[in-house]
Amino acid sequence: MKIYGLQKLSLLDFPDKMSCTVFTGGCNFRCPFCHNSALVDGQRPQIIGEDAFFDFLKSRVGLLDGVCVTGGEPLLNGDIDVFFKKIKASGYAVKLDTNGSFPDLLKALAGQNLIDYVAMDIKNSPENYSKSAGAPCDTDKIKESAAYLMNGSLPFEFRTTMVKEFNTLKDAEIIGKWLEGGEKYFLQYFRPSENTIMQGFHPLTDGEMNEALNILKKYIPDTRIRGA
Ligand code: SF4
Repeated sequence: MKIYGLQKLSLLDFPDKMSCTVFTGGCNFRCPFCHNSALVDGQRPQIIGEDAFFDFLKSRVGLLDGVCVTGGEPLLNGDIDVFFKKIKASGYAVKLDTNGSFPDLLKALAGQNLIDYVAMDIKNSPENYSKSAGAPCDTDKIKESAAYLMNGSLPFEFRTTMVKEFNTLKDAEIIGKWLEGGEKYFLQYFRPSENTIMQGFHPLTDGEMNEALNILKKYIPDTRIRGA
């Protein structure tokens, strides 16, 4: 596994766990507002070898209890199953951040008890998905991943970064109907940065975020705003 970033401590990323976060490289999407452009393009140098990472995990036994694996899109890595197995064998829970493009692999990994929590991005309403993803995407695969999570027993959350230029209140209504019955849904503020793939995007106002929240709550009562 090529590791392009390591945040050694996070109290927020993995619910109820003290965790570290590992950044993998490469992504099948090109969300124009993505903050991890260097990771997506594979331009960032590897910062730590896999052996050194597992030495780090050994040194944190008793201090950390989870590892968040994010990207990029982690499921693009052919050795992700081996990586997860090694993390679990080291005594840590695994949280996967995914864009939901690979439902078969998600199911296979979950079926082997290699994932303890999933955070799945919902980029937009299905009709506007490719616009937000910055690439053609197969929304049937996204829907399959979402349905799998909603119908299964694996703890999960859906989350959407709300970008004024892409995410409208009409989209929120459509998403709500699509994901009705979902467990937890986080609406995240977009933060403009010089590291995004493209420039010129804006966050929703507090009022717009609250309007979207109220729409989503009709369908997923545990919808919250994150990053206010
Ligand atoms: S925000 Fe989009 S482009 Fe960036 S890593 Fe996530 S899915 Fe890939």
